[in-house]
This record gives sequence, C-alpha cells and structure tokens, in this order.
Amino acid sequence: MIKKVLVANRGEIAIRVMRSCREMGIQSVAVFSEADRTSMHVRYADEAYCIGPSASNESYLVIDNIIEAAKKSKVDAIHPGYGFLSENATFSDRCKKEGIIFIGPSSHAINTMGDKITARKTMQKANVPVVPGTTEPIQDLDKAVAVIKEIGLPVMIKASAGGGGKGMRLVMKEEDILPAVSSSKSEAKAAFGDDSVYIEKYINSPHHIEFQILADNHGNCIHLFERECSVQRRHQKVIEETPSPVMTPEVRDEMGKYAVAAAKAVNYSGAGTIEFIVDDQLNYYFLEMNTRLQVEHPITERVVGVDLVKEQINIANNEPLSLKQEDLSQKGHAIECRIYAEDPENNFMPNPGLIKHITEPLGLGVRHDGYVYKGYEIPMYYDPLISKLIVWAPTRTEAIDRMKRALYAYKIIGIKTSIPFLNRIMDVPAFRQGKYNTHFIQDNEEFLLNEEKPSQKLKDIASIAAFFSYLKKLEKHQSPVNLNGGSNWKTFGRKKSLERL
Ligand code: ADP
Ligand code: ADP
Ligand code: MG
Repeated sequence: MIKKVLVANRGEIAIRVMRSCREMGIQSVAVFSEADRTSMHVRYADEAYCIGPSASNESYLVIDNIIEAAKKSKVDAIHPGYGFLSENATFSDRCKKEGIIFIGPSSHAINTMGDKITARKTMQKANVPVVPGTTEPIQDLDKAVAVIKEIGLPVMIKASAGGGGKGMRLVMKEEDILPAVSSSKSEAKAAFGDDSVYIEKYINSPHHIEFQILADNHGNCIHLFERECSVQRRHQKVIEETPSPVMTPEVRDEMGKYAVAAAKAVNYSGAGTIEFIVDDQLNYYFLEMNTRLQVEHPITERVVGVDLVKEQINIANNEPLSLKQEDLSQKGHAIECRIYAEDPENNFMPNPGLIKHITEPLGLGVRHDGYVYKGYEIPMYYDPLISKLIVWAPTRTEAIDRMKRALYAYKIIGIKTSIPFLNRIMDVPAFRQGKYNTHFIQDNEEFLLNEEKPSQKLKDIASIAAFFSYLKKLEKHQSPVNLNGGSNWKTFGRKKSLERL
C-alpha cells in the first residue's frame, strides 16, 4: 500500500496531486529547484527536497537527483505529473529498478506511444483508424515528395518524438515540402534530440477531440468520455470543454471503444488520453496517446464525477478498477481555461514576475487549480502556466456565462496574463454556438486581440472608488449610495442593519 508519494513536478499539478494524497492519508514529498524554493508546492507538501539549480535540465529532469530524494524521504511511489519526466520510459524503468512504484504506465507503453511512428503502426495493427500518411521516417526527400503527391496536399510534416505542438509543419504547396521537412527536422532535433519526421494528411477544419481512459493491472479498461480541445494557439490547447458540442451519442460510443482498444493494444495501465483528429463530417482518426495525466483532466473529473489522481494511485496499488463503463455518464458541462503569465498583446510573450495582488474567483461551480500567491515571483525558467480555471454548470450556455463571471472576478496585478484574451473568447458567437474548430483563434484573431482595455480598467477603478465612497458614507451614517443606480428605497430600509456591520 502506498503511504508516501514523491511528486516529481512543480506548480499547479504538483499541488493537485498532493491534494488527493492528503485526502487518501498519503504523505507527500515535494522536490524543487533553487528558483522554486518559495513555491507553493514546497509549502503544501509534508516534506521537501532541493534537487538542483533553476534550469529544469539540472533539476526536474535529472533522474538521479529525483531518485536520491525519493530514497532519502523513503517514499513508496513517485507521481510524475505532466511534462518533465512524465513520459520518460527510462524514468519509469529506473523507478521500478529502485523498488519505487511509478504512478504511470510501463516503459513499454510509454515507448510505444511516445514515438508517433511506432504508435501509428501499433494502432493500425489494432484496427484503430489513424490519419492517412506514412509509418516510416522520411529518409529520402524524393520519395517523400512522391508519397505526398499520392496522399495529396495539404499535408503535415510531424516529428515522431513530438509534443507540446513542436516539430509540426503544414505544407500547402509542393515547393514548400523541402523547407518544411528540414525545419521540422531541426526543430525536432533541438527539442527532442530525435529528428525523425513523417507525413500525415492534413485534416481540413479539424477538431481535436480526446478520450480519457483508465486501465488497471488486471486487464480492465474503461473510457471516461471525450474532451473537446479545438481552441488552440500554435497547436497548443487554450480552452477545453466536455461534452464536445459536436459529438453525437453514436460517434462517442464508437470513439470510446477505439480509445479502449488503443490502450489495450499496449497493455496500458493507469490514466491516459487518446487524442483524435476529427473532420467536420465526424470522421475521426487516432492522433497520438498521452501516457500521463493531462493538463485538462479536471473537466472530466467534474462531469463524470471521479478523482483521476485517486484512480491513478489505486491502480498503482494494484487494485482493480472500481468503476464500470456502464455506470459512467456525463452530467452537465465543464470548461477549463488555461491562465498563462503571458502578454496577448505582445505576441503572447511569457511575462513572469512579481504577483503584487491576486483575487481568485470563487463561488458555485468554480474550481481553481493554481499555485501563485501575493508576493510570489513567477520564475522565468518554466512553462508560464499560472493556473487552470474550471467551471461546471448544468448546460453549456450556463457554463460559458459562469466562466465569464469567474474570469471577471479573477484579478492579478503585477504581471500580464491571458485572462482578458480568454474573456473575449467567451463572447465570440462561433464559440457560444459551439461551432468552432482548431482554426478558431486564427479566424477570430482581430476581435480577440482588440481588447477594449481602458474601458475595462476604468470600470474596475470606478467600481472600487464607488465601494470606498459607499464605506465612507456608511461610516458617516449617511444613506448608502446605490451602486447599481436607480432608487435607493431598498437600502434605506436596511440602513439600520447596515450600520451595525
Ligand atoms: P496536454 O495534452 O496535457 O494538454 P500539452 O501538450 O499542452 O499537454 O503539454 C503539457 C505540458 O507538457 C506543457 O508544459 C508542455 O510544454 C509539456 N510537454 C508536452 N509534451 C512534451 C514533451 N514531449 N517533452 C517535454 N515536455 C512536454
Ligand atoms: P503534440 O504531440 O504536439 O500534442 P499532436 O499530434 O497531438 O501533437 O497535434 C497537436 C495539434 O496539431 C492537434 O490538436 C491539431 O490541432 C494539429 N494537428 C496535428 N496533426 C494534424 C493533422 N494531421 N491535420 C490537422 N491538424 C493536425
Ligand atoms: Mg497532442
């Protein structure tokens, strides 16, 4: 039985994992780089160990240092979160060798799915539909051109080791093939140390729809329905929602079955995600599998009513799944916005720095998974994700209205964030109507970036000023001003009780 877990990660996801540990009576151990000494995940944990300098390749990515901290703190298991070492087969293996449980799949599953070419071959064998294209790395450019002519333009050149939207090039015209292959290769080499690239047919007006799966060590595997992740910037998700506004019960059922088949094909164990690309006719193709907890897992948790981290830990404890496919359903609608420390008006440049003030949104149906606090300085070394704002409501429209309310209440002073940009998305008719695909942000860029900032700022200042004048008037036993305008008769009647406040 797992009694103590080291979380080999930082930021919001480290805290997210530790929260479930605490509920399960499991002790948590944080690891941190020098830049993260004052980070909230360090404070939240029961114990914490420094694992090196600020750069992640000298700390969060150094397997030896993490194993050393795990031994010192005598943990039974390691949870890798997402990013960093979460999809590193060597790490999964090393944990096993050291007698530490890796809360995640086997190195075989990670290796097979981590390499997109191998994953495509494996899926084809398992009769899961894959995007038309090649299943060998491009060696010979002339051959590549011939294959592309056969498949037909447009195509995507993609890195086999790709992740985080990197190493991908869209090719529209024949003369762009060679430059695309060479720039995809060099980006892949720099980001992943592997320059294998392959060809995929470009799916027009695509949707990114993924399925959450859970598999135990006893051959049971279920899916927890879909997440629509088509609001993307540079192939990276910005907003996710579930259920998908374009899904039908029949297609959901079929895709769910393929997702389970995909996981079974690699003897999967733990939580994972099967990503599909879907065209506007709802034809779907396997895109890739992420063999870890996903950034956007909370929307599934809310709509299906599960704690995915608890499930991961139970699976790692060798317990059989307690959930059965036929008992699962989707209730209501959940949306997640990724809140980044970045400047939408300046090409989304990362904008780390000191948090001078933060007011987090609260209230019915709101979940906020974050890690920054007033006085905290966001370091420049890592992903600029500050937090994830998740809302739930019975219907999609109510969820959008709730998200707007929560984004409005979310105030951060000191750094630029993506909050105003996300707020604008909630107002775009195509988003409101659920009629959008992965081109959504590009198609609406002008509106999304043309934020009426001064008026919003003035509104904020005006409401704060009105509030202070209201308090002053209360102090002087005057009748309170009505902040909403109109008659004061309601507040007059309550003056006595207000005075006692
Ligand atoms: P998700 O599919 O969970 O939304 P993303 O693709 O947005 O995941 O990536 C989640 C995090 O993991 C990001 O911080 C991203 O930079 C990082 N990441 C994703 N893939 C890789 C990879 N292959 N190597 C290193 N980091 C990665
Ligand atoms: P990563 O490992 O970087 O997450 P994915 O293969 O999951 O890469 O693709 C990321 C995104 O890129 C998808 O969500 C989609 O928007 C776009 N994309 C990838 N492949 C295709 C394709 N064949 N056709 C159209 N869009 C694609
Ligand atoms: Mg992906």
